[in-house]
Amino acid sequence: MTPNPSDIPLRCRCGHVRGVANDVAPDTGFRFVCYCGDCQAFARFLGRPDVLDSAGGTDIFQMPTGRVKLTAGTDAVRCLHLSSKVFRWYTDCCRTPIGNTAGPRFPVVGVIHSFMDRDAGGRSRDEALGAPLCRIFERSAVGPLPPNAPPPLSLGLFPIRVSKLLGWWLRRLGRPNPFFDVHTNAPLSVPRVLTPGERATPSQ
Ligand SMILES: [Zn+2]
Ligand SMILES: [Zn+2]
Repeated sequence: MTPNPSDIPLRCRCGHVRGVANDVAPDTGFRFVCYCGDCQAFARFLGRPDVLDSAGGTDIFQMPTGRVKLTAGTDAVRCLHLSSKVFRWYTDCCRTPIGNTAGPRFPVVGVIHSFMDRDAGGRSRDEALGAPLCRIFERSAVGPLPPNAPPPLSLGLFPIRVSKLLGWWLRRLGRPNPFFDVHTNAPLSVPRVLTPGERATPSQ
């Protein structure tokens, strides 16, 4: 079976949780680097500072939820709420961040780079996904931005992003959403909410 070049294998660090992202290309998603405090708190909670760049940025590829399939190890998938709107998915086996979604009806998942197999059919991440289009929430960066940080979000990117989201919505590419029960809309795992103490930055 020849793997489809636009399919990217998904796996946690230990390989227990696996899946596939279909139809992945620079123009079928929206890649960016997020420096927000919640993304940093998520990596801190998981004990995975290695997921962040030197300034605390997370490399995220937004794509339609219906194009992400979890094929193994879903028993180890967990969910964290740092705000009630965002479901942050990770694996319990090896604390790998999977990605972020909104509720069951929102057709977008921001897949975090740590859950995408590095060797995507022998292509680099930039080749498979395109370079990150922008950075967001850079005011929350914890250090000087790396020299290869993408440009700030420009007004020109808004229509691109909106038309992508709208297209995914209209074409029903959000379904099936791998993180919510197709009938009950219940999340795959009950979201955990951190106490303020658990959330606090150890270094501040
Ligand atoms: Zn694992
Ligand atoms: Zn963020």
